[in-house]
Amino acid sequence: MIWNYQRISLSCVSALFLFSFNAGPKITGITGPLLAGETSLHSLAPASHAILNPKKAIAPYTIYLTFDDGPCAGSEKVNELCQKDNLFINVFLIGKNVYRNENSRMLFHQYISNPLIETGNHSFTHAERHYRQYFRDPETVLSDFNRNRDSLLFSNNFARLPGRNFFRLDSLTRNDITNGSEAADTLAANGYHIFGWDIEWRSRPAKGISLHTGSEMIEIVQKMISKKKTFLPDRIVILLHDPELQDSAFRSALEDFIDKARADGNFRFDHLSNY
Ligand SMILES: [Zn+2]
Repeated sequence: MIWNYQRISLSCVSALFLFSFNAGPKITGITGPLLAGETSLHSLAPASHAILNPKKAIAPYTIYLTFDDGPCAGSEKVNELCQKDNLFINVFLIGKNVYRNENSRMLFHQYISNPLIETGNHSFTHAERHYRQYFRDPETVLSDFNRNRDSLLFSNNFARLPGRNFFRLDSLTRNDITNGSEAADTLAANGYHIFGWDIEWRSRPAKGISLHTGSEMIEIVQKMISKKKTFLPDRIVILLHDPELQDSAFRSALEDFIDKARADGNFRFDHLSNY
């Protein structure tokens, strides 16, 4: 029951945080080139899970599909995937990508108006891909995340660090390497809830990452949960990337994974707000 307590605690902190962000005068210092009236799309509150998930037995294990680095080519496919499968998905967005061109702004609007999608902060610049240098200065990291928050007006305080797999959720923490730890602490002290991941799934082999079919991923997920290799028990956070959904073979593997997880009966998909 300890996890129930943590969930309650997380919700309370989130509620306080949201209040502190949304109450009072409008945030000043908006750095992103928002258009007049654009923020009104944020008022399209996500539908409650109860509406989308009619009453049924709750599966014991939860899978959180999280997509990083959008909006970009591939984000349209993320939207299609969740709508086709009535699937809850979290995306972590880069402000710089949103303002790249008209198409990326349109993709951002598709995300924030889709009740199946929860958005989160993945920094404004993504460290310009110079992670080591970026994370040496925690204050720069904080202002980069604040810049993204104030530009995109997220409805939560969820954050994912670029290039770093760290968790900071209340008193629960995890680092993958040392560089970035202080920056993660600074973000957490400023109200951010930082989500890392339990496993990364890519469309092609990368450093330390293998290529997997949908069936292989189900086996891996089952093993990680049964051997308690995940950050929290009975749930697994999977990291994917928007651009990779352009790969049709990878998309098929992912859809196969989703079908098999649902057919199994032991898994359900949910938003990180219910983590
Ligand atoms: Zn990223």
